[in-house]
Amino acid sequence: MRVRSMRWPMALVLLMAAGSTTAAQVDQRTLRAGESELHVDVVDVADADRRAQLQGWLEEVAGATLTAFGRYPLRSARVRITQIDSNDESPVPWGQTLRRGEPSVLLFVRRDASLAELRADWTAIHELSHLFHPYMGGDGRWLSEGLASYYQNVLRARAGMLSADEAWRRLEAGFGRGRREDSQASLRELSRSHRGTMRVYWAGAAFWLEADIALRRDHASSLDEVLSRYSSCCLRGTGLVEPEAFLSRLDELSRSQVFSALYARYAPSREFPDLADTYRALGIAMRDDRLAFADGPAARLRRSIMAPPASRPAAP
Ligand SMILES: [Zn+2]
Repeated sequence: MRVRSMRWPMALVLLMAAGSTTAAQVDQRTLRAGESELHVDVVDVADADRRAQLQGWLEEVAGATLTAFGRYPLRSARVRITQIDSNDESPVPWGQTLRRGEPSVLLFVRRDASLAELRADWTAIHELSHLFHPYMGGDGRWLSEGLASYYQNVLRARAGMLSADEAWRRLEAGFGRGRREDSQASLRELSRSHRGTMRVYWAGAAFWLEADIALRRDHASSLDEVLSRYSSCCLRGTGLVEPEAFLSRLDELSRSQVFSALYARYAPSREFPDLADTYRALGIAMRDDRLAFADGPAARLRRSIMAPPASRPAAP
């Protein structure tokens, strides 16, 4: 979920209630990758050029998610784009993934948002990234939001929508916001009680970054590869999977204990994780409050995360 403002949920309830009295005009397209399908609905946009622009934008964002493993994580899912009037500075003031019935990503786009603004925004890729994991309830919210927050930067960098350096800078900016949350509550407690949003999102992102590094460096694998296996064997768009059960399956699929070991450290942690070793492994240093990127073996690991794997199919 995109979190910007708590006034949106109520506004949306009213919007949906108002919209329910008239039949919506829906522009429907289906994006395919292998046997997976993403159905994209643009709702109630009279102007054909704008409909095409919104469809084109979503196709580019959906293409970025294919840099993970070449197909959409679910066999079938839906994206619904609705325009709204809003003074919010974001071009996509609200996004949400629903898991009742067919898994659906709802995106509410500012009516006057330009294509350039939409392409620069992270909300759509964040919401689409939620399709990579099962629903894990409140206890697993930090894992869900963490994965979407990690992938929103990684997948856009791979698709050329951000430079790799910019993706690292945005991750670091998020970690900085997470570090400033100082309630001393455990990550699990914050997650369960819907508090400490910035630590929930960005300590969660650090968890997946650490897992990705361990898989690439020590197990000749990657987070993408393990999530691809999970998508093939086990992922369902609806229904609850407890965080421990999800991570234990990821351990099995990676023939490692990367996930359970990190979980044991992260879930009870009362402050933001120390990422000094992680940054050393990536060849990233902090100089005068700015990130500096080293060459050498560490750079290979760093680039392997943000570069599109050559062997994977291009976006359809
Ligand atoms: Zn989210």
